[in-house]
Amino acid sequence: MNRINKGIVTLSFDCEAKWGMADLSLNWTKELTDKNLVEVYEYILEILKKHNIPSTFAFVGAMTETKDDFLAKTKPLMNGPNHKKWLKPIYSQLTESDEGWFFPNLINLCKKYHMHEIASHGYTHIPFSSLTDEEVTEEMKLIKDWSLRNELNCKTLIFPRNDISFSEKLNRYDIQLYRNLPKLIDTKYLPKYVNTFLEELNIFKKSEELNFDKLCIPGGVFINWKYGPRKIIPKTISNIRYKNIINDAIKRNRVAHFWTHPHNFITAPDSKIIFERLCQEIQKKVESNELEIYRQVDFI
Ligand SMILES: [Zn+2]
Repeated sequence: MNRINKGIVTLSFDCEAKWGMADLSLNWTKELTDKNLVEVYEYILEILKKHNIPSTFAFVGAMTETKDDFLAKTKPLMNGPNHKKWLKPIYSQLTESDEGWFFPNLINLCKKYHMHEIASHGYTHIPFSSLTDEEVTEEMKLIKDWSLRNELNCKTLIFPRNDISFSEKLNRYDIQLYRNLPKLIDTKYLPKYVNTFLEELNIFKKSEELNFDKLCIPGGVFINWKYGPRKIIPKTISNIRYKNIINDAIKRNRVAHFWTHPHNFITAPDSKIIFERLCQEIQKKVESNELEIYRQVDFI
């Protein structure tokens, strides 16, 4: 991994449409229509262009296939018990409607901007720790095949659900780097949502150090999804927090990594304002030559 002698900022997007929550029944997934999803990707790409920020778009492979190709490619996976468990409810949802699942044009849309990295977010979005060794091999083969067919030369991965398992196998499929787990406040006696809430209020959050001996880069922070309890956190608090992380990265030559799911801007349009302010801040610091932008692949 390259040494860094400047503060670095990285923006990554977990691109998954309905695949991310395939095993859960959540009310907000209804809003993930084909139209809303395409529009939100167009929106993000335009904002990034406006502020000149090359970023990492990590796609669930299946999401960028046609429905027929997905069905043909995943049929053999049904022989594995865990893949079967993951895919069965997806197949059954697809018999009713494929709204929000397949976007074969999105890769080309991203490519058109000639600045972004296209990375992997798994092929089916199954969490890796639920797989057997053989099943991981099948999932990785599909990722590799997806990368070749789309001429992506895909070198980095964001594990579905940040569930880091079998990382030692990635290299065999040309994946050289992954995004680590975010370091979050974890007060054991409080429920997870309270911890996430407290985390979002931590305006003194620091940037993270790059570990040159590892295959991974810092897990960074989630751009606040103004939905549910997190909605009440003022946008200004989130942006002060991100500004402090960036300033800390500049001061100590460290990494400020921000990530989100594009679809979060559909269910919480207010998060777009936070995102746009963050992009403005990054552009300002880059133009004053204090900060450099890396996509995940630029760390290799
Ligand atoms: Zn995901």
